[in-house]
Amino acid sequence: MAKTDYDLVIIGAGPAGLTAGIYAARARMNVLLLEKAVPGGQILVTDWIENYPGFPEGISGFDLAEKMKTQAEELGLRIETLEVHSLNLSEELKEIVLKDKSITTKSLIIASGASPRTLGIGEDKFIGKGVSFCATCDAPFFKEKTLVAIGGGDTAVQEAIYLTKFAQKVYLVHRRDELRAAKILQERAFANDKIELVWDSIPTGIEGFFGVESVKIKNVKTNEEKTLKADGCFIWVGILPNTSFLNDAVETDEFGFIRSGANMQTSVPGVYAVGDVRNTPLRQIVTAVGDAAIAAVSAEHFIENA
Ligand code: NAP
Repeated sequence: MAKTDYDLVIIGAGPAGLTAGIYAARARMNVLLLEKAVPGGQILVTDWIENYPGFPEGISGFDLAEKMKTQAEELGLRIETLEVHSLNLSEELKEIVLKDKSITTKSLIIASGASPRTLGIGEDKFIGKGVSFCATCDAPFFKEKTLVAIGGGDTAVQEAIYLTKFAQKVYLVHRRDELRAAKILQERAFANDKIELVWDSIPTGIEGFFGVESVKIKNVKTNEEKTLKADGCFIWVGILPNTSFLNDAVETDEFGFIRSGANMQTSVPGVYAVGDVRNTPLRQIVTAVGDAAIAAVSAEHFIENA
């Protein structure tokens, strides 16, 4: 195999990337993890995690991210704050283009995660002025206020419940008459006096002068339009893969998530995709870390057999 800077480069320091780093460091690979922001990924903005085994009382996303990062670094993983601009991938040598330089590696694990999807109803104008995608960051600004939360998945329901620790009322607006979220979260939302479910409805606009004052919604069954007076609007309508650097270097599905198989390998040998950026039937911390362990061991075997 041609001489390269690294055996393995990992892109992204969420639970998947950090776990891949733990395995690679323990395998004594010459490994580098690149993260463009703060290590931790999406769990940094997750208030409370209670479905990751080993923490019977639950653990905050921030604390879990900190523990994973500490564990990886203590095992010898090097993490650098650098953004990946593009990739040039061939079977033998993988080039990662950064802002001021390029580095080469024998294998690559893409663990770049996903980001919240937006609605395109003019919410951009109100970001920082009442529109948010992060309850743990912004909920404390809405003590005793009225909020609208949009979405019906795990994120929307879990985070709407968190909002009620601060807000006096939360409208949870969902486009169907059934939530997608896990049943345990649904039970808690239904039992929460501060949450009012608004079924079969989509948001059509956000109004306000200095900040959010109301959210316009439309019932998709009756076409009835309504205005909900609210001081803030939290949007949780799914995720988009973080793949701006990819430029078709590996195969993706119709939604842009990277296709990877049972050993996490993508369409390019020696290149793996793990966690939320991957085309996967389940996006959880446990599945992300499982993907990552498989990918790191697969990368090790790939290099040995090359
Ligand atoms: P998600 O599961 O894709 O749910 C997105 C929700 O937004 C759905 O209810 C969807 O409605 C709704 N939606 C989508 N587009 C919309 C639009 N244009 N207008 C109005 N509503 C719209 O996304 P997520 O909740 O962010 O979760 C992402 C992944 O992370 C999932 O795999 C989830 O299981 C996982 N996650 C897990 C946990 C946990 O285990 N505690 C916590 C957070 C996230 P429909 O239902 O009608 O499609």
